[in-house]
Amino acid sequence: MDDIRILAPSDLDTLIAELRERGFRVVGPTLRDETIVTGDIRSASDLPRGIGDIQEAATYRTRQRDDDAYFGFAAPAQSTKPVFFPSEEVVWRGKRDHDQGGHFTAERDTANASPVALLGVRSCDLRAVQIHDQVLAHRQFKDVHYTARRDGTLVIAVACGVPAATCFCASMGTGPRPAATDPQTGQPSYDLLLTEVIDGDTHHFVAEVGTDAGRDIADAVAASKGTAKDQAQAIDITNAAAASQTRAIDRNTVHDVLRASAESSRWEDVANRCLGCTNCTMVCPTCFCTTMSDVSDLAGENAERHRVWDSCFSANFSYIHGGPTRESLKARYRQWITHKLSSWEDQFGMLGCVGCGRCITWCPAGIDITEEAAALGRMSGLGSTASAAST
Ligand code: SF4
Ligand code: SF4
Repeated sequence: MDDIRILAPSDLDTLIAELRERGFRVVGPTLRDETIVTGDIRSASDLPRGIGDIQEAATYRTRQRDDDAYFGFAAPAQSTKPVFFPSEEVVWRGKRDHDQGGHFTAERDTANASPVALLGVRSCDLRAVQIHDQVLAHRQFKDVHYTARRDGTLVIAVACGVPAATCFCASMGTGPRPAATDPQTGQPSYDLLLTEVIDGDTHHFVAEVGTDAGRDIADAVAASKGTAKDQAQAIDITNAAAASQTRAIDRNTVHDVLRASAESSRWEDVANRCLGCTNCTMVCPTCFCTTMSDVSDLAGENAERHRVWDSCFSANFSYIHGGPTRESLKARYRQWITHKLSSWEDQFGMLGCVGCGRCITWCPAGIDITEEAAALGRMSGLGSTASAAST
């Protein structure tokens, strides 16, 4: 039998204290301005206890639950992306060296290398981290800033019991229960996997051990032994969560649908609704486009190069000499969804969407990636690209 433990809600404080004692920066879901975001966790009181969420196209609200669930909500407004890939960071700093004839010397800025413990990371976001690993750390040229932050991460994942109406991870094969191993590397996906169980007067966490480090933590917080029945109850919770999802994308056909849709009339339709605001790319846990910004002081003595998130929806993102190659919103939306659902697979061997639904929730125009994929599937005649809830 797998190594199953049971944690009481009161064990969360012990768990967090133990992680901090071991030198981890603990990062997890927390409530800020009535929104669940990813932030630093110092004790269980930083978690959004008793808070749920309502998500729909262009809609996000938190709500008071009628229980004390610590993880009774779906994808937080912001994923774990900025933990390892911040929205702005200094890549190098340079200064004029008067002892060397006034030449500039530059030094690479070193990222804060404190190991991170991801507490309560959802299956979709965990898969997004694995995708970023593939893009930023497992290719010929590694992103040293990303890898410095990512190295030594401990993962205490939480299986989702209450997906939002915007979630479609089940159809993407990325949740609500995380795979035990990263499909690209074969490495364990998590050190511990928690499933929150609230049943009448019962409130506890079923903890499934994924690694020796996870077992060590479970031992340190004196988690009691669980049974196969406890694990079956945890799996029932995620099975029910998967069955409750109403949005979907057919991941078996979508690659070819997008390939065949380069000249589809659907692009005009969506361009008439898209505002080009870039929200969808800012909240997406897998988007990784950036631009560089150089700054110097007025005396010309010190300079810095900053890497800043950018978006393929920005007019100037595709600027090369003479102008942008994607001038129209039609071209930019086509670029984004085609990369996510088709050419990403050609580049990196997996789709670039994990079905978190954030781009649906946070699009002010209510544009829905599942609806667009379904429409393109119908119009291309290439298949059964599954439809959105609303179609
Ligand atoms: S494309 Fe949308 S649903 Fe897919 S991972 Fe990005 S934000 Fe989530
Ligand atoms: S699809 Fe929506 S969120 Fe994305 S750029 Fe267009 S209006 Fe903004």
